Amino acid sequence: MTIDRIINKFKENHPGVDASILHLAYEYAKEAHQGQMRKTGEPYINHPLHTAYILTEIKADLATVIAGLLHDVPEDTYRTLDDVEKEFGEEVANLVKGITKLGKIKYRGIERYKENLKKMFLAMTNDLRVIFIKFCDRLNNLRTIEGLPVEKQKRIARETLEIYVPIAGLLGISRLKWQMEDICFKILYPDKFHELEYKYEVEKKVERNQFFQKIKNILTPKLKEANVDYGIEIRFKHLYSIYQKMQKKNRKFDEIYDVFALRIIVPSINDCYKTLGIIHTLWKPNPSRFKDYIAVPKPNGYKSLHTTIYGPEGKATEFQIRTNEMHEESLYGLAAHWYYKHSERNNYQSPNWIKEIIEVQKEVTNTDELVKKVKLDVFQDRIFVFSPQGDVFELPERSTPIDFAYAVHSNIGNKAASVLINDKLGKLDQELRNGDMVKIVTEKNRHHPNPDWLKFVKTRRAKERIKQYARKSSLERLKRFIPGIKEK
Ligand code: MN
Repeated sequence: MTIDRIINKFKENHPGVDASILHLAYEYAKEAHQGQMRKTGEPYINHPLHTAYILTEIKADLATVIAGLLHDVPEDTYRTLDDVEKEFGEEVANLVKGITKLGKIKYRGIERYKENLKKMFLAMTNDLRVIFIKFCDRLNNLRTIEGLPVEKQKRIARETLEIYVPIAGLLGISRLKWQMEDICFKILYPDKFHELEYKYEVEKKVERNQFFQKIKNILTPKLKEANVDYGIEIRFKHLYSIYQKMQKKNRKFDEIYDVFALRIIVPSINDCYKTLGIIHTLWKPNPSRFKDYIAVPKPNGYKSLHTTIYGPEGKATEFQIRTNEMHEESLYGLAAHWYYKHSERNNYQSPNWIKEIIEVQKEVTNTDELVKKVKLDVFQDRIFVFSPQGDVFELPERSTPIDFAYAVHSNIGNKAASVLINDKLGKLDQELRNGDMVKIVTEKNRHHPNPDWLKFVKTRRAKERIKQYARKSSLERLKRFIPGIKEK
């Protein structure tokens, strides 16, 4: 990978934008990572380069690609976040800061943290571009995972499938979702992966191509007759999704009939329905498999017509019919909206683009579900903070370190003496903010909470524990004055 390839790819999607700053960012990152190696033995700079390239593939904007190049600089080199800000400005620095923060969250595979992690992932990033960078970073880490011990590979793969993949699905970035899924599938179930790969790539390939040719020969003249300008492709079926279907429906590979799937891309919505009509007059459709996601898009914004017909030799074949715009959307999710919106007006501006996208999404689909899920103010009354070990805790807004301490363990709460917030000394009654890393310093000899804490704690758990001790201690005082009272 070279920086020139990244610049060229970037210019494809953003013609007319001065991308020379990417050279600077590259030189900066290269110098900072000088002498560092990846576990695979290659120079470290290859990793940020690949991350940045994947970002250009999903049509990210300039600040995002720069941040992709710099994303590991503050964490792993002598250059600090302030240095990055001085050199590349606040927008880029904020993106890099977001990545560094997300990197601190650790995954332990415990059910309890899974939901929190997903939520935190979304809540902690006021800017969804951070999540895109994190995804591309993860994708490159997965692609170069062989350098790691097998157990670690599996942990990372599980984390990706449980946390990253669902979020990619939620944001509609299916391109990244599929790529991550198939690599994780290979890491977690290598035998099954290779078996399916062989069936799909070797055994079925010839059959698939012949069948595709047959369909094309019948369909093409009809589409031409109707003046529909079309593109047709064999839909690449992802191995993990085939595997999931086999598991869910308890079927063998040969029984998953939409393995034969074709995609037709046409210029307009009108052409979509025209094409559907032509297909249905040529072959008999299976009515239970027909879906009009153009009239009723999926919650993540996905649009397309799906139909399964009994094609030549009675073989069930799935068609997806969509416009080019819908196609891009299905690959890049929210990012595509932004791209289209701006390329139409042909002007380039980036800040707040995600907010705009969310607005657009709202207008376009009318299904509030995605908007609700993505919209960060869903989390308005909750914050997510983490322990130095990377465990995530969900707390009500305006919670204090004492609330956090009791959320971790009653003993930590009872013995809390002071607190470090993001490695700086804080106060036990100060309000925590989203993404804070909180370390409670305990005092061994202390066993009682301070009743004054009741004045500021927010969680019920903390209140109850402190009151419990307040009651106990008044009983103890009584005992001291009236020796007759005894505990049984
Ligand atoms: Mn990285």
